[in-house]
Amino acid sequence: MAFSVREASERILAAVTPLPPVAVPLRESLGLVLAEDVVSPIEHPPWDNSSMDGYAVRAADVAGAAKDAPVVLPVLETVRAGQRPTRPVEGGTAIRIMTGAPVPDGADSVIRVEDTDGGETRVTIRDARDAGRNVRPRGEDLRAGDIAVTAGSVIGPAQFGVLASVGAATVKVHRRPRVAVLASGDELVDLDRFDEVRRGDRIVTSNSYTIGANVLGAGGEPVDLGIVRDDPGSYAERMSGRGARECDLLITSGGVSVGAFDFTKDVLKSLGAELHLWRVLMRPGAPLGFGTLHGMPWLGLPGNPVSAMVTFELFARPVIRRLRGERQVFKRTVEVRLREDVSIAAPLTHFMRVIVEWDDGTALARLTGPQGSGLLTSMSRANALLIVPPDRTTIRAGETARVLPLGEGALSAMHLEL
Ligand code: AMP
Ligand code: MG
Repeated sequence: MAFSVREASERILAAVTPLPPVAVPLRESLGLVLAEDVVSPIEHPPWDNSSMDGYAVRAADVAGAAKDAPVVLPVLETVRAGQRPTRPVEGGTAIRIMTGAPVPDGADSVIRVEDTDGGETRVTIRDARDAGRNVRPRGEDLRAGDIAVTAGSVIGPAQFGVLASVGAATVKVHRRPRVAVLASGDELVDLDRFDEVRRGDRIVTSNSYTIGANVLGAGGEPVDLGIVRDDPGSYAERMSGRGARECDLLITSGGVSVGAFDFTKDVLKSLGAELHLWRVLMRPGAPLGFGTLHGMPWLGLPGNPVSAMVTFELFARPVIRRLRGERQVFKRTVEVRLREDVSIAAPLTHFMRVIVEWDDGTALARLTGPQGSGLLTSMSRANALLIVPPDRTTIRAGETARVLPLGEGALSAMHLEL
């Protein structure tokens, strides 16, 4: 049975659940997904503190201060960040204070140093604009009991910093998925046998590289299971071996088509796998297998290098993100204007390699050139995949369409856009 891209995606994701939580040291959690809310045990900041270098005073004492009517106050002491004041600010006095230092009792304002003469025993204040300002209250960022970071958040630099601020030295995260990557084909070798490639007898298993790199980029840990020959015995052995069993997802490439030596499906069946889908109404990448092997999801990507990458983007990346515990597992698409006519020959959803460039805020897309599914170099030049729906046989130059960005390329710029 053949499914639309959306149906295939839904069927695949319905069979995948986030990996169980594990406790890890905060420093090892970067990029992982938090599995439970982290509650702040503290108030942050822990004290009312100054947002300026200046003088803590009472607003009433400086209300009339101006260049031609300065207010002069005795300075009781100086408080630096990391120190506490030893006394309150009394009416008609000031305490010299640095940014971040606790504001003394009795003060409700910090006059910035630029509006004063900077005096250490007496200060002359020439402006009243800071009356009632520049005090950051205790607990302004977090109150004790507040959720500091919510479950399901990807721990990026900001979350990492907040978790550190509230003392979360150990955090519960979803384990990083281990993803087995298995290539298949008698024609394939790895780089150690490049002499055979040079002789024209073999090709390099580039899928092992593109899929491994994509797994890493999606936040998984690739486990390269190498290459299996086109014979059912070696397939079965490798798929049921320890390397594969210790993984959370198995991604194969090749051998899912209808060729005489495409055994993947039969081997999986013989190993007791449940097969959920076999074909998707898309190009490139129509043959696409998905099933579960003793509870472990298996994705069978096509062998053609471009098809393998495109189907990874559509199906494998969201699976890895779901396993990681992410809530939003899909990339957003971006609207573009076409620079050239684009036609498709069959009523299938097409994904075409394009280069998106921005012109005055408009995203313009052009094809990388010929779209054969063996042309991996075209993938290396593309920064997005143009989505051509099955019912749009031609999209004309100047018309709009949507693209799925690949990496950050389509969204990066040469200049700061300000
Ligand atoms: P298959 O899906 O096995 O019929 O392979 C389709 C095409 O993809 C053939 O031209 C294969 O040589 C090529 N191919 C299959 N696996 C790989 C791989 N791991 N790396 C590069 N090309 C591959
Ligand atoms: Mg093959």
